[in-house]
This record gives sequence, structure tokens and C-alpha cells, in this order.
Amino acid sequence: MQVRRQIEVSGIVQGVGFRPFVFRLAQSRRLTGCIRNTSAGVTIEVQGSSNSVDQFAASLLVQPPPLSRITTITALEIPIQSEVEFRIVTSEAGGGCTLISPDIAVCSDCLHELLDPADRRFRYPFINCTNCGPRFTIVRAIPYDRASTSMAVFPMCARCQAEYDDPRNRRFHAQPNACPDCGPHLKLWDRSGRNISNGDPVRRAVDALRDGQVVAVKGLGGFHLAVDALNPSAVRLLRERKRRFEKPFAIMVPDVETARQFCEVSDVASQALESAQRPIVLLPRAPRCEMSDEIAPRNRDLGIFLPYTPLHHLLLDQGKFSALVMTSGNLSEEPIAIDNREAVQRLNNLADFFLAHNRDILLRCDDSVVRPTATGIRQLRRSRGFVPVPVFLKDAQPSILAVGGELKNTVCLTKGKHAFLSQHIGDLENPASYAFFAEATDHLKNILQIEPEGIAYDLHPEYFSTKWALQQKGIRLVGVQHHHAHIASCMAENHLEGQVIGIALDGTGYGTDGQIWGGEVLLTGYAEFERLAHLEYVPMPGGSAAIREPWRMAISYLDHHFGREFFRFPVPFVRRLEHRKVEVLLRMVEQSINSPLTSSCGRLFDAVAALIGIRQKVNYEAQAAIELEMAIGNSSSHACYPLTLTPKGDACIISTCSMFEALLDDLKKDVAIADMSRRFHNSVVQIFFDVAERSRDETGLNRVCLSGGAFNNLYLSNRLESRLSSAGFEVFTQSEVPAGDGGLSLGQAAIAAFSLLPQG
Ligand code: ZN
Ligand code: ZN
Ligand code: FE
Repeated sequence: MQVRRQIEVSGIVQGVGFRPFVFRLAQSRRLTGCIRNTSAGVTIEVQGSSNSVDQFAASLLVQPPPLSRITTITALEIPIQSEVEFRIVTSEAGGGCTLISPDIAVCSDCLHELLDPADRRFRYPFINCTNCGPRFTIVRAIPYDRASTSMAVFPMCARCQAEYDDPRNRRFHAQPNACPDCGPHLKLWDRSGRNISNGDPVRRAVDALRDGQVVAVKGLGGFHLAVDALNPSAVRLLRERKRRFEKPFAIMVPDVETARQFCEVSDVASQALESAQRPIVLLPRAPRCEMSDEIAPRNRDLGIFLPYTPLHHLLLDQGKFSALVMTSGNLSEEPIAIDNREAVQRLNNLADFFLAHNRDILLRCDDSVVRPTATGIRQLRRSRGFVPVPVFLKDAQPSILAVGGELKNTVCLTKGKHAFLSQHIGDLENPASYAFFAEATDHLKNILQIEPEGIAYDLHPEYFSTKWALQQKGIRLVGVQHHHAHIASCMAENHLEGQVIGIALDGTGYGTDGQIWGGEVLLTGYAEFERLAHLEYVPMPGGSAAIREPWRMAISYLDHHFGREFFRFPVPFVRRLEHRKVEVLLRMVEQSINSPLTSSCGRLFDAVAALIGIRQKVNYEAQAAIELEMAIGNSSSHACYPLTLTPKGDACIISTCSMFEALLDDLKKDVAIADMSRRFHNSVVQIFFDVAERSRDETGLNRVCLSGGAFNNLYLSNRLESRLSSAGFEVFTQSEVPAGDGGLSLGQAAIAAFSLLPQG
């Protein structure tokens, strides 16, 4: 019996080879019909024996193209038509291709051709196909076809065009399709931008790297600065030039086998390394790791990633390098350089050579950073390879633009059940990031065709993103408290509704009382939140200077708990103090000059790190807390310092006084730093566990959400999560978006969208 069925498929099914896949599937089963792109995904009409049509429908889900993601599929019987073939119907203009694929690492088929001397694209660094290559970073506008990408200036040659037009070909509708005859080309420049590419540019770049020089390499989302990772003086040179002191460098290695020489690679980690997104994966160093300490000083982990452009493969292969430093092409904390001329201007003091090309990057996009856990990966920086894949929400939402926080900024646009987070925009306190913020926001609105009904922003009056939001006219503006947004982000990602107990631990977030929060337990729903408990307030002497200089926080805590008595404590930290500097600090505190109060968990970690002698000043964000975590090493101490709860009004205050007394006792007894660090971590786990139990008794809620940058600390997050789970709590954490401020915009959007819904 003949049947005809209309099948609607939504999800990521455009620009990922879905139509040719369906075409081949239909042909192999001798079915007729058609497929076309729609604004929601694709519509398939398929006709044949009812048996074959059933099998066809089942196969759609079995082996879809690797980059596709089917979210819903519906089928409907429709009247039979007379036809003889299966056709791919080209989408009518304005058909609206809403989901654009992210940039994808070169696939194994293309890699094979790249290294095959008989192939016409042998060693051609711009080889790609429907299953791989640049997407998001070369798109100017929608619909996504060649004319609206930076490949528009390269008309395809006859052979490339034939591949592009043939549904049986792997390059059918591969928009960036190119070959040495018609596509972009590599160039090598010296540091003044002079073309010196006679001969093989890759070979000459390899020679320079071998000589310990710095080469700027144009990648997918921007320039990298590369040096030989096993040459310590080259690494030092790069640090000096980039003015990047101590912050770890990412390392590119040829394959997982090589990664194992340097790091311990679990199954989850090797999957992450080899995934099409090719993120930087944070991995613990192997016992006999040869990598010099220069790469990641005082850090147990290395950031490792595998090559993802054909050019990376050529560089590693021709140079036989086992590891290259590949760090973003910028001065510390500025946006990554993308334009050729801009790169030469901004990087000429950093790089000796530029390995560049004439395919423009239209949108900068930094490398993503993930950390494997026992069960999956956690996002630390969600950017290249993941953006603009949406976070799938539980229900359709009003369209919101959420502008994020100040550090590690991302913005988020929602439409229907999709929340689109931007790439990592960076630290908005850096003026060079302002332009990128506006550019990324506009671009995302444009390619996703979203006109938001409201804008969500952080309550901090000094955040650039907040000031920007408040200047927008004729649109609903919704201010969202920072830690409310963190917990809502976790709720939205996990499709939670109603209320939860939220534990939000981070460095800085503006509170509704004008103080700086960061050690918060909140009764949270999308509509509102209530503060159940928080760390006790202490002054931050010098405001942001106290973030850069953790010793100030140690003084603040000591003074807060013990007054000037602390000057007589027989511990190394106090003995090394310069009394005059400390007096200035204490006077600031006494007179409340530039000393805002904070309940920040990050500042508590800073104070402890300084007090036990780990770090007095930081060179990058959260350095003291990270080194405090790393200092645990092999300690197995189960001891715990006492933190106490004191009810005050509606909330509970977590007092740190007795904890500092116990810690000072350990210091006097010369207890090992590893043990003190571990005991401190144990006490933080214990107190937030206690608060959660108390909150459960008070509210009857059993769901706990953990969010905020402090949960990037694995010791803290693993221990707290398992304590809570074994006490019967349902615990939710973040994996798709960062728990830190990179995930803030999702929570802001969820809260603002909720406030725009008709209530009742
Ligand atoms: Zn490919
Ligand atoms: Zn060609
Ligand atoms: Fe935060």
C-alpha cells in the first residue's frame, strides 16, 4: 500500500548536511517526495510503501549527520501525489534559517584528503565540507548561503561548483567550499606586515617556531600567538611580550596519545578533546609531565586542545611538534585580533611572523574552555564550537536581550524555546571590549532575526553592560540581582520551575542593599528571591584594590574579628606585614573610606590564601582561590574549622570568627599548608550543607541549585554536591553554560522573560 507522510523535524538541521542525508536515505529506499528548509527546521514529504516509509522515519533518528541535533519530530499522513523522484527544494528567500551552525573542526574525511598527495586539495589549508569548517565566524547575514559569508569574494571554480550542486557529494551546499584554484590562500608576513611568502609559508613558519620565535597564526575566530611549548625560553619570551604573567597558556597537541604524555586523560576527557567543538580541556598533569612550569605556574592542570583547522594540522605535522602554545592573539584581556591589518598593528610587538590568509573572519570567537567531571563536561568558557547553538528551554519565552555582567561577559537572546548565548565577549572594564560587546549583540540579533521585547541587566550601577542597557529607549528594562541570575541560570538550564534553594558562591555581585554579595543562600524562583543566609559582612579596604591584593582581605578579616590585637599574633603573615601600610588600610576601614562591605565567598578564599602564605597579590582573576584549591595536593585531613550560624532578622549570618581562630592555631603550630587548605575547604562544604538542611526544614524544598564562579573549584563543588545528594537533596549544577559570570545572561533572560509573561 502506498502512503505519503509529512515529517517536520526541528532542532539543528540546517547547514549540517541534513538535506543530503535525507535525500540519500530516500533514494536508497526508492521513496519519492521532497525536503525543504523552514523557519523551524526542515519539512520532509515522503511517499512509498508504508513499510519503507516507516523504516525511513525510524532511520532519521538512528544515524543523523554528526552535527545535527533533532529536538522534535512530528509526522502526518497526507494525500498521495504523482511524482517520480525525491527532490531537495531550495528554500524560498526569507524562508528564515534560524539556527546557524557553529564553527566545526575539520572532519576525518577532509583530513584524509588534506594529507593525500593524490587529492586535488592536498595540503590546502581551507579544505572543508558539509560536515566541517567555518560557519558562525564567516556569516554576515542570513539566509546562510555563500553570498552572505566572507567566502562571497571567491567565486567557485567549475569543479567546486559541481560538488556544491550534487546532492550525492559531501560538499553539497557546503557554503565555504573551495580549492587551491578558486579559494583563499595562505600568506606569511614579517612583523611589519611585509609579504615574505615566497616558498611554503607553513614551512617557514615551522622554522621560526623551531628557532624559538613567536608566530601569529590566523585561526577560525581570531589570531593565536604560537610558540614551541617545549622551549622554555620561547614561552618566557611570549609571556614578557604579551605581558601575561602566570596566567596559564593553552597547549595544542596533535592527538590524544600525545595529550597522555603530559596529562591524565579520562574517557570523558578524550571525548571532549576529540569532539567537533575542539574546546580547550583542563586536565591534571601526568606524574612525569615534561611541560615546563612556565606554561601554567603553580597549577595542577594544563589546558590542552587538539588541532581544529586544516592549518593547525599542517603546522603540527610539518613541524613534528608535540606541543605548541596557542594563546589568543591579544595583549592581556583585550579582545582577540581578527582582521589582518588590525592584527599587524596590534600584534607587531608580540609576534615575529604572521601566518595569515585572505578569508576574512567576520566575528571574533575565542576558544572554549571545559573541564571534564566524572559524568560529563562543565563549561568554563562557552564560545567557539558551541555558539550559536541554543540552550533549549522548557517552554517558549518572550524574546529578551540579557546583557550579562562585567567580567567574562556574554549576552543572551531568547526566542521561543531557544536561548542563544553569545560567544565570550570578555571583561567590559577593558575599553577595547566595549565595541565588541555592541558588535556581538547586533550581530546575534541580526543573524537570529530577534527583536527583543525586553532587556535584562545586572543591578550594579557601574557595570558597562548596565549603563548600556539603561540608555536603550522604548523597551521594557528589567534589572536583575546578580546571584538571583546565577541561580535562575542553573534553573533554566535544568528546566526547573517553582522554587529552589539556591547556593550562589562567587567573587562579586551587587546586592539589593548596595553591598557586595557573593556567599549567598537564596530561596529562589524566577519571579523573586529571598536571602536565607549569607557570609558575614567585612570591609573590602580599597574596593577593587582588595580584589587585586588578597593580603588586604586577610587584614580586613583579622581586624574585624580581633581588632588590633592581631598585630601580636605569632604567625608568619603578621610578622611580614609592613606596619605603615597596614595602618593606612585600617584607617580607611575605620573611616569607611572606599571600603564597601562584602559577603563574598571569593574574598574569603582570598583572605585565607593570603593568611596561610599562598598569595598576597594576584595577576589574574581568582588566582589566589585557584592556588588555594591546588594547594590541597595529597592532603587527606578530614578536619574542619568551625563556621557558625547566627539568625539575624529573616536571614542567617555565617560567622567566620571561630574559623579564623582555629586557622590561626594551625598556623602557630606550623601545620602544613595542604592540610590547612583542605580543612578550610571542608569547613565551607560543611557550613553550606548545614544551611541547606536548615533551609529545607524551613521551606520544605528539597531541590538545591549550585551556581557562581566558586563552583569552578572542583574540590568544593564535588564535595558539596555529594554531601547534599547523600542527604537526599536533589542537586542541580550547570554543565551547558558556565557556572561563573559567563552564564549570568541566561539567568537574567529567564527572570526577565518570566516578568513579561501574563501572570496568574
Ligand atoms: Zn569535512
Ligand atoms: Zn575550486
Ligand atoms: Fe558572579
